[in-house]
Amino acid sequence: IRWSESDGWHDAAITARRPLTIDPSMAVLHYAQEIFEGLKAYRTANGGTVMFRPEANAKRFRDSARRLAMPELPDELFLESCRLLVKTEADWIPTVEGGALYLRPFMIASEAFLGVKPSAEYLYMVIASSVGAYWKGGARAISVWVSETYARAAAGGTGAAKCGGNYAASLVAQAEGIREGCDQVVFLDAAERRWVEELGGMNIFFVFDDGTLLTPPLTGTILPGITRDSIIQLARDQGLAVREELYSFEQWRADAGSGRLTEAFACGTAAVVTPIGQVASAHGRFTIGSGGTGQLTQRMLDSLTAIQRGQAPDPHGWLSPVA
Ligand code: PMP
Repeated sequence: IRWSESDGWHDAAITARRPLTIDPSMAVLHYAQEIFEGLKAYRTANGGTVMFRPEANAKRFRDSARRLAMPELPDELFLESCRLLVKTEADWIPTVEGGALYLRPFMIASEAFLGVKPSAEYLYMVIASSVGAYWKGGARAISVWVSETYARAAAGGTGAAKCGGNYAASLVAQAEGIREGCDQVVFLDAAERRWVEELGGMNIFFVFDDGTLLTPPLTGTILPGITRDSIIQLARDQGLAVREELYSFEQWRADAGSGRLTEAFACGTAAVVTPIGQVASAHGRFTIGSGGTGQLTQRMLDSLTAIQRGQAPDPHGWLSPVA
């Protein structure tokens, strides 16, 4: 779907995947005016096809658009474009447990010019890709590198928007983490390098020995994850207390050492729930609990995937049928 100042949203079409022809001075190539989303369509236990909370992605896409000075795609167009693509590509949803069709809606500034100003033309597209279960043989605990060199987002910046530039800026930290032998990076806040924020592509939760959960609050510098929101609701449904509070890296290390912190996990659309077993930084390494998958982490993963696959009731209406 295209957008221009004169015509608004127009030219909606589904086409076979093919390369784009782009002008070398297209605005997105120079100033990174780009936003995207990620969501999954699943086949349910009764043979239906559903998307998981696409309305939440539609809203986040509008929020990202406003932050990047782009036009807001109406929710009906976002939802209809995803639904139509899932219908067209339904044969590609893997039947293996945990398989899904991953949808990547995105929008780029498509006007060709070199001045620094919002583009007057945009191109919105959705591509689909079939994905298998993220973890073969169940969840595996990952190791994380807490970066004290690089920050992901500063107050007033684009941290709460899902724009490509955030990820471009995080790649060097991810590479640093991998060099240190870790699977993923954890970012701290930019101002004090003290408060835990999120991973490169996942939000983070902490579990304490009194059975409570804690996740960093939405301060404007972290992405408001839809999986994060779902886990908060599921945990509260199950009678667990969830606090959205700042948590320092120093406290994290102390609580893991004293045994007060029993589990930690990351969450996002791609891997759903991922246990964190090992933590490393320039200040040394420590283990969380037994270093494996904690009980509550496993319970959250099981509860969420059961809803997504239509194997458990869906009390919040999170499944959106693709008829
Ligand atoms: N944080 C970041 C930086 C992400 O890229 C993602 C993935 N979209 C998340 C958190 C998790 O968000 P969601 O649960 O909506 O996938």
